[in-house]
Amino acid sequence: MAEKNFQVLQSDELGRYGVTVKDLKAGDVLLKETPFVVGPKQDTPVVCLGCNIFLDGTSSGPRCSRCGWPLCPDCEMAQAPLHKAECRVFVKNAVKFQNLPKEAMVCLQLDCITPLRLLLAKEADPGRWEREVSVMEHHETIRRDSPSWRVDDTNIVKYLRGPCKLSRFPETLIQQACGILEVNSFEAHTICGNPIRCIFPTLAILAHSCVPNLTHTIYLDGDFRMICRAAVDIPKGDMLYTTYTYTQNGTKERQNHLRRGKYFICHCQRCLDPTELGTFFSSPRCNSCSSGFYLSQDSLDPAANWECNSCKDSISSTLLDEKIDKIQQDFTALKSQESSRTKLIEGEKLLKHLLTLLHPNHYILMSLREMLIEMLGHVEGCGLNGLPEVLLNHKIQLIREVLNILDKFEPGMTRARATMLFELHAPLAILAKKLFYSSKIPPSEFRQRLLEAATCVGEAYGILKWEDSRMSEGLLATVSKKTFEQLLNDIADIKEM
Ligand SMILES: [Zn+2]
Ligand SMILES: [Zn+2]
Ligand SMILES: [Zn+2]
Ligand SMILES: [Zn+2]
Repeated sequence: MAEKNFQVLQSDELGRYGVTVKDLKAGDVLLKETPFVVGPKQDTPVVCLGCNIFLDGTSSGPRCSRCGWPLCPDCEMAQAPLHKAECRVFVKNAVKFQNLPKEAMVCLQLDCITPLRLLLAKEADPGRWEREVSVMEHHETIRRDSPSWRVDDTNIVKYLRGPCKLSRFPETLIQQACGILEVNSFEAHTICGNPIRCIFPTLAILAHSCVPNLTHTIYLDGDFRMICRAAVDIPKGDMLYTTYTYTQNGTKERQNHLRRGKYFICHCQRCLDPTELGTFFSSPRCNSCSSGFYLSQDSLDPAANWECNSCKDSISSTLLDEKIDKIQQDFTALKSQESSRTKLIEGEKLLKHLLTLLHPNHYILMSLREMLIEMLGHVEGCGLNGLPEVLLNHKIQLIREVLNILDKFEPGMTRARATMLFELHAPLAILAKKLFYSSKIPPSEFRQRLLEAATCVGEAYGILKWEDSRMSEGLLATVSKKTFEQLLNDIADIKEM
């Protein structure tokens, strides 16, 4: 089955990991897998236990007619398969859902759902548990001293063994289930956009990197099957990497997230390199000279000093963190505003200002660019077609700058690149038409420019065509295909002029 394309090896440092046993081309399928368990994330608001949409947690919210836990009317009608196993337990042991006050943001009672599903799945398929799940990393020793162990003990272990009367599950087994979920879960989004977590035991064998060479899609057609593909060409014998963190964060944030949430320190090439593969993704400008940028003296140590790569001026991590926190706060405050012309103007001002403080590739500038890209052509009241040349060029430049970074950190056939390529085609095509119809460029250049736009959207389609057609990326695939064909027609028409 799964291991035809790769071989599982083991080392003290990495635990289990996978290497290819043959050359893979970008887009080749590496692995297909159904999850061992799917369920709500921790600290979730009240959601339907069938489809995960948000539900009213007060006494007026819809409930399962059998057990009384949150279930939407559609899932009640369809007898949602996801909810069946725990429903039987709740009915049998008369476990009641406690309605919440209107203002409650999270529903701790739902924390037990996914661990319970994992334990019930173990009973339903002991063979797969033994072979694939029981061997999964759960960092028992480190977790024992962590706050999450104590929280899980109160909210999950004591709840399942107490009110749910499931003393047949020993405490250590429940904690093992919690640990497996914490360390190995992959996040997916349901059709309504809410996050859920899934355990794919074979996918979880593959090592983590902050520059993954794989990409995976989870399909929402009932059994949440996952297909993992090579994002780039991977030669035979190379290691296979997924990612457990957000690749568009700086090294410090990624390391923090992985240490706290996944209990390991990432030693990937990007994490070990203070320049983050030559991007200077986390570097502020030097305070003392005009040309240099600060780089961490030890990117795996959050307390290490930072030194200018030009004049060698040194700055403590505390001072540097204060500086970055302040900038981040300004940006977050702006980002949280409703989309408007004023927000766009303020955003452009902030971009100019931050370019004087940070390396142009800094991750805060990348997020700011993404915000501006989203707004340009959508808040001026004129649409993208009405944007003047200078703003179309500006939008094109912003997208290219984001794409350059994505090419480094999410290279190849990834959703992030595809979405940006799709963004790029429209201003390229609109600008080409504007220039041509005002006789500023000859037909040959018009053709060339439209061809570039078509290439972008064609590449986006080539990547997005794998996405679930009910998800936003899947819908974008359909639009990409139509736009690609339309642009090819437009190009063909030019020849006849
Ligand atoms: Zn539902
Ligand atoms: Zn029920
Ligand atoms: Zn890393
Ligand atoms: Zn300097």
